[in-house]
Amino acid sequence: MGRLVLISNRVADLSKASQAGGMAVALADTLRTRGGLWLGWSGKIGERRDEQRSDPDFTKFGNATVATLPLSAREHEAYYIGYSNNVLWPVFHDRLDIAQFEAGYYQRYLEVNKRFARALHPLLRPDDSIWVHDYHMIPLGMELRALGVTNPIGFFLHIPVPPAQTFLAIPEHRELARGLAAYDLIGLQTKVDVGNLIDYLQDGVFGRILQDGRIRAFDRELSIAAFPVAIDVDAFVDSRPKHTAKKLSTTRILGVDRLDYTKGLPQKFRAFSRFLEKYPDYHGKVLLSQIAPPTRETVTAYADIRHELETLSGRINGRFGELDWVPIQYIHRSTPRKLLVDVYRNSRVGFVTPLRDGMNLVAKEYVAAQDPDDPGVLILSRFAGAAEQLQEALIVNPYDIEEMADALKKALDMDLTERRERHEALLSDIRRNDTYAWCRSFLDSLESTSRSAPLAIPTSPSEAARRALQEIEMARVAPRARHQ
Ligand code: UDP
Repeated sequence: MGRLVLISNRVADLSKASQAGGMAVALADTLRTRGGLWLGWSGKIGERRDEQRSDPDFTKFGNATVATLPLSAREHEAYYIGYSNNVLWPVFHDRLDIAQFEAGYYQRYLEVNKRFARALHPLLRPDDSIWVHDYHMIPLGMELRALGVTNPIGFFLHIPVPPAQTFLAIPEHRELARGLAAYDLIGLQTKVDVGNLIDYLQDGVFGRILQDGRIRAFDRELSIAAFPVAIDVDAFVDSRPKHTAKKLSTTRILGVDRLDYTKGLPQKFRAFSRFLEKYPDYHGKVLLSQIAPPTRETVTAYADIRHELETLSGRINGRFGELDWVPIQYIHRSTPRKLLVDVYRNSRVGFVTPLRDGMNLVAKEYVAAQDPDDPGVLILSRFAGAAEQLQEALIVNPYDIEEMADALKKALDMDLTERRERHEALLSDIRRNDTYAWCRSFLDSLESTSRSAPLAIPTSPSEAARRALQEIEMARVAPRARHQ
């Protein structure tokens, strides 16, 4: 087995990867076992002359090497803030209305990808498997191919794929598709995403589904499949009995989300407000704790959402609060993972309501952290990738405020037997498909795909997407929740 070579916008700190709890731990472990290299941006903004640099700085961690390059200020502005976060992020999350298709962003996005490919090329060995991560790096595989690289190259997209009509609205969609076609394997979070991408490749760039399930586009053949991102379950399991952790006098409903417009935070606050309006018996007895660390604060849409949430939480606390009870606790700071495990465990409801989300690891972490003898209830948006898997959660439509308010009531009233049943089913799924299994299955597929044993993917992608949506629909909280 050859080395593993990873490329992503940011690299993990391999000395601390085991504390990260997500995919970093599995990737770092695999790098250490197989030996390999992880290339990415150093996080530093350098000089204009850094745009010529293709000699990374190296740090060694045993068998693994981390290689980093700085970005110039204008590369950071156009490649990172501009194209990645103001075009691809909103469009892929179905927010065409706030995408900024400014001229010049794409060109510099492509140039940064070319520079990273030039930096990587001389470091590669013939038997390396190359794994490119996420939307910042879509053209990287194509640039490596242009330099003559024939190694297996896989790509994993951590964010959702929008429906074909939305993808088509990106002025450079053809260039992006050409970039995607350079990979041997594309991994996506869900079956719905797989269906959307295959639909787009067929409708947008005349891709064809081959007999063996692969897709032919731009004279290349590639496999596309779902590999739902997972967590390191043991990092969230707290073996102490529940009562040893600090007890609250009120029952906590918990939200943990970066303060992003995709996370459905105003909808969550409105649903909580509606719940308090509809069910006054709960006044003084429940608390919504929303941890919402800042993110991408230089982007206008993020300042807007912050303002909206501050106004909403103030209004709800003003309307329902008492001298001895404040209904919403809104914390605009990041919380260390160690503390999160405790908060997850001591919250009766995990309230996860994104309007669109690639996966949503918080949902899985919340389940893993529960006391199996007295677990809390997960309320989960049907538009989180995790909903395809976590069907024993109370699945809700985050646009339906009434339904979410009722789901809160149902979660708070749920008896112990049902809570245990749901939790057991959720946890066994999360355990079976942990982050190590995710990493192994992607790499096994990449390596077998490039040995010409294609993955079996659905011959009718729309059918696969439709089936996945149907499963989510079956699990919705109302009117047909399984335990009613
Ligand atoms: N997280 C954290 N501290 C916080 C908020 C979030 O460590 O204050 C972590 C959380 O444990 C999870 C990740 O950030 O592992 C968020 O992942 P998710 O997939 O839910 O959302 P994303 O931020 O990637 O969109």
